[in-house]
Amino acid sequence: MSEETTDERETRNSVFSGQQQHSQLPQSRPPSELDIDLPAAGIPLPSLGKIYDKEPLKDCQELEIKAMTAQEEDILLNRNFIRNGTVISKLIKSCLLDKRIDVDEMLSGDRNALMIAIRALGYGTEYVPTISCPKCDTSQDFPISLDGLPIKELDLEKVKQVEMNTNQFSFTLPMTKKTVVFKFLTGKDEERILKDEEASKKKLGAAAKDAKISTRLANAILSINGIEDKTLISRFCQNMPARDSLALRHHIDNNEPSVDMSHQFTCQNSDCGHQEVIAIPLGIEFFWPKSRV
Ligand SMILES: [Zn+2]
Repeated sequence: MSEETTDERETRNSVFSGQQQHSQLPQSRPPSELDIDLPAAGIPLPSLGKIYDKEPLKDCQELEIKAMTAQEEDILLNRNFIRNGTVISKLIKSCLLDKRIDVDEMLSGDRNALMIAIRALGYGTEYVPTISCPKCDTSQDFPISLDGLPIKELDLEKVKQVEMNTNQFSFTLPMTKKTVVFKFLTGKDEERILKDEEASKKKLGAAAKDAKISTRLANAILSINGIEDKTLISRFCQNMPARDSLALRHHIDNNEPSVDMSHQFTCQNSDCGHQEVIAIPLGIEFFWPKSRV
């Protein structure tokens, strides 16, 4: 049993509930005066909304977001969201002005456009990821500007959309001549793939890297010559002739609506000096600029 007096307990409880502070504050002001006028911005969607069949995303070319506040910083710190891989979706949802939008169903490329804008509005356009040189493995700061990154819009002259306002596109494989219907991956797909990869890393060890390419492909393919069975698709992906697999992957990569995050990298290690075009990663670290840590 605690020996503290009733008075002590009461004082502490009122501190927790904030009552004590309130009583010392001057008469509270009307709520409208406490509103902070945050900048909102219209962000263009790389898909132009052409792959969505429902409002409000259908044919929507631009979405409005607000800048991050303490509320969004809480989301970024939430261990549960980080652990179950939903932190980015929660953050985007929180910053979107239109709360009807299902962030999980959005294309990765559209989500990336929103992520970059949220980051730039919140912490500025300078981003300094740590990159490991692909050749010598030296890790180094690689400062980039998030301003003016090129947007790769969906170009319906270059892909064959099965039907208007669907995320379904057809492609004929050059060697086997089979017709593949594929989709561009959504946030939900990426989340599932990440979980599958974690599982296969435990099971396969080093071989997991090879499995990655066919996993992504199997997730993008909806049917092959009309066959929709997931097991058959997955088996086909593992045994597809390399030329077909490469052609399909290039076709998807080249036409995926997204923000172009590729940058010319030159290794700072003077013994190396390796040059390569690399894709800048967009993870949760993206929201924790080094100056803030
Ligand atoms: Zn290097």
